[in-house]
Amino acid sequence: MSKKIKIGSVCIGGGERPAVQSMTTVKTSDVEKSVAQILRLEEAGCQIVRVAVLDEEDARAISAVKQSIHIPLVADIHFSARLAVAAVESGADKLRVNPGNIGGERELSLVADCVKAHGVPVRVGANTGSIEPRFLKQYGRSAKALVLSALENVRILERHGVRDIVISVKASNVPLTVRAYEMLAGETDYPLHLGVTEAGTEHMGIIKSSIGIGSLLLKGIGDTIRVSLTSDPVKEVYAARGILRACGLDEDYAEVVSCPTCGRCQYDCMGLAERVNERVKNVKKKLKIAVMGCVVNGPGEAREADLGIAGGKEYCVIFRGEETERVPADRAEEVFFSRLEELIK
Ligand code: SF4
Repeated sequence: MSKKIKIGSVCIGGGERPAVQSMTTVKTSDVEKSVAQILRLEEAGCQIVRVAVLDEEDARAISAVKQSIHIPLVADIHFSARLAVAAVESGADKLRVNPGNIGGERELSLVADCVKAHGVPVRVGANTGSIEPRFLKQYGRSAKALVLSALENVRILERHGVRDIVISVKASNVPLTVRAYEMLAGETDYPLHLGVTEAGTEHMGIIKSSIGIGSLLLKGIGDTIRVSLTSDPVKEVYAARGILRACGLDEDYAEVVSCPTCGRCQYDCMGLAERVNERVKNVKKKLKIAVMGCVVNGPGEAREADLGIAGGKEYCVIFRGEETERVPADRAEEVFFSRLEELIK
């Protein structure tokens, strides 16, 4: 089991359910926009948020942003020990740095002393674009090169006495990402941050992340996850939550099961399934809701649902194990939603 680490109010590792992360896409020094985006991410279920720190203004803005948000904030910094220290002093709950480009030993000591004094963990890692040249030369863009690069960064931090470390080894190639994390998990007990990097736009990005992150989670690997999408980060959070649920790691939600429909379906089953999903997407209660295309097969196939509807041309059937109501088709959606509200309450 991985070591437990505290990031602000959130613990990762040590058997905790993997925490959902995302990253803002606005300039951090624009406090109003940063807060607005983070609050939307929180509402979607984000548990840890990362912001890019490019300059002093960004670092200073962290303290103002933190006053209006409710989840831990990670500062992502490249090339500057000074900014890393400023971000921690401004209230960052965790740093994402690359010890190899932060300056030199003296600069690294400054950062290490600062994070130790503030009890702030650090994520280090490698992706296929940041493999150490000597490992790249020896092993190419391989899982081994990624793992050796990441572990070298860990050793550098350890030499400076830092022990609260989180590691990532990301590639945009899914099989390579999975191999690298499997290898890394065998080498360390620091918590692992899972992600497929540069996964792409929404459709393919979610597929790649689901397979990459999901296959690792199913093997018990991974302590925090980030789905990277070239899209609204709120979609990253919904995708990440979906991955946890599909892997059986989050049961406190309303699962909507629905049939694919076929020629037997004579009502707007697809539209209704979408509307039901939208209504329950933030419900944190273990429920199963079924939206089925026809009364012939629907109630039987979805017998285990807490509430279900199966549509017909003249009437719809509402069921909870057994049929409970038969409602004229034109009133079916209204009645179904009122039963759904009773259940959610
Ligand atoms: S439940 Fe009915 S409509 Fe849906 S796929 Fe099965 S037979 Fe077709």
